[in-house]
Amino acid sequence: MIMKNKYIPIHYNNNYYLYDCLNKYLFTVDEKAYHEFKNCDNNRLLERINKSTSLYPKSDKNNNIFHVLSTINTINNKKLYIYPEFQRKNVIESIIRTQHITLEITELCNLNCIYCCYGKLYLKTQHNQIGDKNRITDFLKKILYLKANNQIITDLRISFYGGEPLIQFDTIKECVEIACSILPNVNIKFAMTTNAVLLDKHIDYLIMHDFDICISLDGNKANNQYRIFKNGKQSFETVKKNIDFIQKKHPIFFEKNISFSTVLHNKSNCIDACHFFSQYKKEPIFSYLSISGTKKRSKKFSEINTQHQYNEKELENFKLDYPELYKSLFSNPNDTIYSWGRNRVPKNLNELFKEEQYIYPGGSCFLFQNRIFITVNGDILLCEKSSRKFKFGKITNKGFTIYLKRINKYYHDIIEIYRNQCTDCYKCFSCPKCYFSSHDEINKGLCICPKEQAIKEMNDIVNSKL
Ligand code: SF4
Ligand code: SF4
Ligand code: SF4
Repeated sequence: MIMKNKYIPIHYNNNYYLYDCLNKYLFTVDEKAYHEFKNCDNNRLLERINKSTSLYPKSDKNNNIFHVLSTINTINNKKLYIYPEFQRKNVIESIIRTQHITLEITELCNLNCIYCCYGKLYLKTQHNQIGDKNRITDFLKKILYLKANNQIITDLRISFYGGEPLIQFDTIKECVEIACSILPNVNIKFAMTTNAVLLDKHIDYLIMHDFDICISLDGNKANNQYRIFKNGKQSFETVKKNIDFIQKKHPIFFEKNISFSTVLHNKSNCIDACHFFSQYKKEPIFSYLSISGTKKRSKKFSEINTQHQYNEKELENFKLDYPELYKSLFSNPNDTIYSWGRNRVPKNLNELFKEEQYIYPGGSCFLFQNRIFITVNGDILLCEKSSRKFKFGKITNKGFTIYLKRINKYYHDIIEIYRNQCTDCYKCFSCPKCYFSSHDEINKGLCICPKEQAIKEMNDIVNSKL
């Protein structure tokens, strides 16, 4: 299937341009051409130009933009990349080569955050399993022996995920020992995301193994009020005490290895959070509540999932103090022409397709190119953000059970969606959407960028940036 190029007319500073979505070119055009592309259907217009109808006499063609475009269009229309039928060996090979293993070591947590995606606001997808140490270490061993037996010695990252991973500290310790003994010549980086309630107890070990630690905290006490213990008490003071303790006792580790993650909701905001974390000389990584899997029509969720209304003065000051954060939070996420038209180039696919001929369908991972995520039950998923329904297999006592039929269907479905709904989307050449984590949004067509939206976005970008 051929994906036809798309052009977006832009009016800037009394000049007219066409933006070539596929090649990321800006062509200068005259006003007439600008209006042609603004008012006519892109495909029909290009067809007319190609056929050289009376609209553009042949004599003008050598010099006019339409001839250039029709030539580029003929050369550059790309084929939609169709995934190959995966065999078991492809999936195993991808597991062998993955450079990031995330282990869910427990579903339990010592907090009961009101917005937790395993809590009351979401449909139940998990069963609060503590996580069996022997099983989890066995999952890890099975993956690491695959690497060892195939002499893979590239750098590896192993992350511990929960619930709260520190409540299963013995499992973490054993996994670290196992990894270091099975892959002694591999540079392994260990990491975790934690609520920090138990961090003071285990910090010496974590420092000894140079863990990267991301602490979840939503800012000051008022910002943090949804992060509570099971008895309803606030967790803020406990967490802050632990953070202060580590900063004081281990300043170098604190500076190098500790980061913060902040959820934005109706009680938090980026200004308070940045102000709060500036005492630690840190800027947090911001995220929003996950909207997938929420209980339908939950009023509480809608209430929590509203954002602080920033006034102009607040935004102005924030932009001055934190220009990069401002850009990532308040600008259009695709706020440069380059990123708007950026093709995602998948890794590790050299043997499978020729990049220059194909357009890749969206931003989903190709098997385990980014990471592999193993749940407490041994289910194999692409990552922790993926919907739990997209299982790729299971690790059992006997080894790896690979769900080939399901895997092939996932990738087949991605292509079908792309064929049916994405050809009209102006972001089809730069689509970053991941089918596995944004399934609902894609399926409902919420992300389609029609021509009018493309024109508006691109004109906003150009007129605010250049
Ligand atoms: S710390 Fe994380 S896992 Fe635990 S309740 Fe809060 S959001 Fe959920
Ligand atoms: S969210 Fe999607 S693209 Fe990102 S790591 Fe997970 S599966 Fe891959
Ligand atoms: S419709 Fe959505 S998934 Fe398809 S190309 Fe557009 S942004 Fe990507």
